[in-house]
Amino acid sequence: MSAKAQKNNNEDNVLKSTLDLIRQAVDFLSLSPDVYEHLSVPARFVEVAVPVEMDDGTMKVFTGYRSQHNNVLGPFKGGIRYHPDAHADEVKALSVLMTLKCSLVGVPFGGGKGAIVCDPYSMSKREKEKMSRSYIQAMGNILGPEKDIPAPDVATDAQVMAWMADEYSTIMREPSFGVVTGKPIAVGGCVGREEATGRGVVCVAKEAARTLGIPFKGARVVIQGAGNVGGIAALLAAEEGCKIVGLSDVSTGIKDAAGLDVEKIMAFVRQGKLLKELDGVEKISNEELLALDCDILIPAALENVLTSKTAGNVKAKIVVEAANGPTTPEGDHILKENGVFVVPDILANSGGVTVSYFEWVQNNYGFRWDLATVNRRLEEKMVEAFTQVYSFYCEKCYGSDMRTGAFMYSIQRLAEAMQYRGWLTSDK
Ligand code: NAD
Repeated sequence: MSAKAQKNNNEDNVLKSTLDLIRQAVDFLSLSPDVYEHLSVPARFVEVAVPVEMDDGTMKVFTGYRSQHNNVLGPFKGGIRYHPDAHADEVKALSVLMTLKCSLVGVPFGGGKGAIVCDPYSMSKREKEKMSRSYIQAMGNILGPEKDIPAPDVATDAQVMAWMADEYSTIMREPSFGVVTGKPIAVGGCVGREEATGRGVVCVAKEAARTLGIPFKGARVVIQGAGNVGGIAALLAAEEGCKIVGLSDVSTGIKDAAGLDVEKIMAFVRQGKLLKELDGVEKISNEELLALDCDILIPAALENVLTSKTAGNVKAKIVVEAANGPTTPEGDHILKENGVFVVPDILANSGGVTVSYFEWVQNNYGFRWDLATVNRRLEEKMVEAFTQVYSFYCEKCYGSDMRTGAFMYSIQRLAEAMQYRGWLTSDK
């Protein structure tokens, strides 16, 4: 476990800060304390050994996690990430955020999350395939289209989902592709799923800009992360007429006040290359990137990047949290003091789980929707979620922030379901 992964009680403990926000929302809404009790501990947390025979013939045993947080609204749902810093508390925290996200956007799923502690960037495709299959062999009994449905997250993609669906189908002795979402179209994927999170991010960024009276066309946008979410958000924002003045990946940041040629840059990234290998652009650190002069900042990489050290430097008027948990409580406080409008993660990146839901529905019923239908339904859901959270924030928690509004809106729905299902003692 790396030093970063061992941190437990300080600023970057996403689990603690998420649970603190839940407790606050439960108090603000005067809900039964049982609601907090149910949300404070995952229903099930599993740690498994993931053995893989590496290309050089050696055996490596990785650690795999799955957190099934809460299923009051439906089967557990959430991505699987491959990352060297993944750790138990992070996985639990991300599963809590999934429960809140599904409730907020109104899809009938609970929250789940998984991870394998590994360095995916140094593994071959064959090793990644073996590791993905090994994870499913270890976790297969707790997964299923009606139980728990994984999806892509950091360093996992449609190909990884296809291996997982295949392995699960082999175990079940029948095609059972609905066990994961985010698959390639050829094996039951949904058109538009790969772009869905980024599309949703751009959709709420546009709503936030409209709400604050900032013209979206011509808005200067900075994006941290050039992967599935950040890269797509960059392309779609540019398509909408925004000027992408900064972009980064794990290797470096790049900037151009006149606007980067994101199509060219993303074509380069999609060849599997890192931004540090790109010639003819000005390089900056990821920390400098967060401080660039812009209208909209979109953190779309990992958690804990807007902190007590970095948030004060943010010049953007709007922060759209495409990543999960990118802002620490201290960072949040600074952004609020400085009048920055934050669209919280559980709202901003809910486009992914929304289209995952569309995929699951199509798998279960044998439907095939076209791209225009998927995108239209996604945009309707995102605009509705933004509008609901914004009105909740204005009416019920003005003086607070959009994150508090989003948590309250989501938890109110979860509490209602808990009450109907008889989970609350005060109801008996
Ligand atoms: P990805 O692996 O496709 O891309 C991650 C990007 O972040 C890459 O460009 C990578 O180089 C960069 N990165 C990694 N470590 C970094 C570091 N230390 N500093 C700066 N950049 C770094 O992952 P993704 O699917 O785009 O996910 C990004 C974020 O969005 C994560 O927080 C994830 O949980 C969240 N998210 C993803 C989805 C989805 O559908 N993929 C849905 C909801 C939320």
